[in-house]
Amino acid sequence: MMGELPIRRLIEACAATVAAHAEELTALDQAIGDGDHGLNMQRGFKAVAEAAEEIAALPFGKALHKAGMTLVMKVGGASGPLYGSLFMAMGKAGHEAPTEPARLAEVFAAGVEAVKARGKSDAGAKTMLDVLVPVQAALAEGGDIAAVRAAADGGLAATAPLRATKGRAAFLGERSIGHLDPGARSSALLVHAVCDVLEEE
Ligand code: ADP
Ligand code: MG
Repeated sequence: MMGELPIRRLIEACAATVAAHAEELTALDQAIGDGDHGLNMQRGFKAVAEAAEEIAALPFGKALHKAGMTLVMKVGGASGPLYGSLFMAMGKAGHEAPTEPARLAEVFAAGVEAVKARGKSDAGAKTMLDVLVPVQAALAEGGDIAAVRAAADGGLAATAPLRATKGRAAFLGERSIGHLDPGARSSALLVHAVCDVLEEE
């Protein structure tokens, strides 16, 4: 069993980690993209945080859907529609907040499938999916918070030796090798922020 998912604190924790790491995300995107990922994410999560009260008052599914819509509108770039799809699909899959890990795994899986569909991508292309897919696998295997964190860290680290085949970084071909993917980094940050909140419960 798990406690209630505290939507408001989750939003605040995600917005805070994105803001604290915006320069790092920008630097990663400068190396293999166009350098806007930090600002894109900061703008998007600030907008979600500003709507936190309204979002937290909604039923779980509608709250996630609204957060996703806000991200689509405010993040921009490739990552806006992808993160938006993640949260909107989770909202559609889970009308009520999951109260057990197996159900959370199902709801998260629906989100990850939506990112794959929207990005016409999967793990191995040096994107956020290299973090999201192993995190989903850890949840599906019944992993604890430490296992989820390790899956995020392992997935992120594994993006460095990959050659990007999706997104802007794919234009660099071989030159994308040796750099962490910015979207994988932002996904890992969000996973750790959620884990921090769940651990405080
Ligand atoms: P843009 O690439 O338009 O400048 P961002 O810089 O905000 O947008 O986001 C870039 C991140 O988006 C990449 O690091 C990668 O993780 C993710 N991304 C890009 N294209 C895809 C895709 N097709 N599938 C999954 N993730 C993608
Ligand atoms: Mg970019």
